[in-house]
Amino acid sequence: MLEWASRLKKLPPYLFAELDEKKEKKLAEGVDVIDMGVGDPDMPTPSPIIEAMKKALEKPEHHRYPTYNGMKSFREAVARWYKKRFNVELDPETEVVALIGSKEGIAHLPLAFIEEGDVVLVPDPGYPVYHSATVLAGGEPYHFPLREETGFLPDVEAIPEDILKKAKIMFLNYPNNPTSACATKETFEKLVKLAKEYKFIIAHDAAYSEIYYEDPPISILEVPEAKDVAIEFHSLSKTFNMTGWRIGMAVGNSEILKGLLKVKTNIDSGVFQAVQEAAIFALDNQPEIENIRNTYKRRIDIFVSRLKKAGINVNPPKATFYVWFKVPEGYTSMEFANTALEKAGVLLTPGIGFGKYGEGFVRAALCMPDERIEEAANRLAGL
Ligand SMILES: *Cc1c(COP(=O)(O)O)cnc(C)c1O
Repeated sequence: MLEWASRLKKLPPYLFAELDEKKEKKLAEGVDVIDMGVGDPDMPTPSPIIEAMKKALEKPEHHRYPTYNGMKSFREAVARWYKKRFNVELDPETEVVALIGSKEGIAHLPLAFIEEGDVVLVPDPGYPVYHSATVLAGGEPYHFPLREETGFLPDVEAIPEDILKKAKIMFLNYPNNPTSACATKETFEKLVKLAKEYKFIIAHDAAYSEIYYEDPPISILEVPEAKDVAIEFHSLSKTFNMTGWRIGMAVGNSEILKGLLKVKTNIDSGVFQAVQEAAIFALDNQPEIENIRNTYKRRIDIFVSRLKKAGINVNPPKATFYVWFKVPEGYTSMEFANTALEKAGVLLTPGIGFGKYGEGFVRAALCMPDERIEEAANRLAGL
């Protein structure tokens, strides 16, 4: 047997083996399992983006190695969109980097700034990549809780002083996966102040900023002086149903981006330029975005109203396509997910999979047609 490197062995265990096994068993029994586990948009990429891609494919200059930081025209399109959407000024030369999906940038950032044993502040519950990327870089993740009582916003007073002193990076993510919470400007202001005081980097993951149903979520870069300490990750994946295309961007503090880019130039060779050209079209024209939002909104209404009628305490999210709700009294999140799969044939993600503070909750991803959502809600209501 090949021995894994210690950094690989330090990655958290895969928690869902039992659920996966049960799902396979159910499918083999002929059960019509509804999988609400995966946060991957089911709708196709808007056709005007596909048309832009087709045209770009024909250009031989795009068939060669791309530039590391992205095409100038792509970086300019990102800056244009940031100005229009957030009223944030970005220098396309130094304050924008193209990514092969935002996950790629998130995973590479700690390699640029983390020494063995450095602390990285990681939201819990949270997207698992913040933790794994920290561990792979030799850092020590410190999980700060996102509690329901504080609206799933970070309670910075609860982070011990000695941890703050050792922290080099803080990951944030609003609108939040899995809780779907949105940040306020006051929260971001407080965190930027804290980062300046303790000299750590803020890496804000804004992958869901365009999937909203109330006030448009803000960028952390709207906070004055945020650019001194922060970068923001963005992606076209969720906004335009482009998860398979692999394109995102990191924007903000140029020194932080320089570090990230140094890592990237040694590992990857940039984003296929035809994809960048399609992304320019998407950012400039925002095709079908209203339709995409309305579709998720309708699905949320179906799911939430049905569960509420059955006496399950669930609130409609203001953003994202996730519904995060408390499991009934007497269950752990894993037990409830097991029961939902066993008795209702509905696969939910147990909150514990997003960190220990996710215990007591489950997440349902609404990436399927209305009829399936309704069917899933009806089955869950009958539990
Ligand atoms: C989906 C997701 C991403 C990654 O998206 P990419 O496809 O890599 O751009 C990043 N952060 C969160 C919280 C996500 O849910």
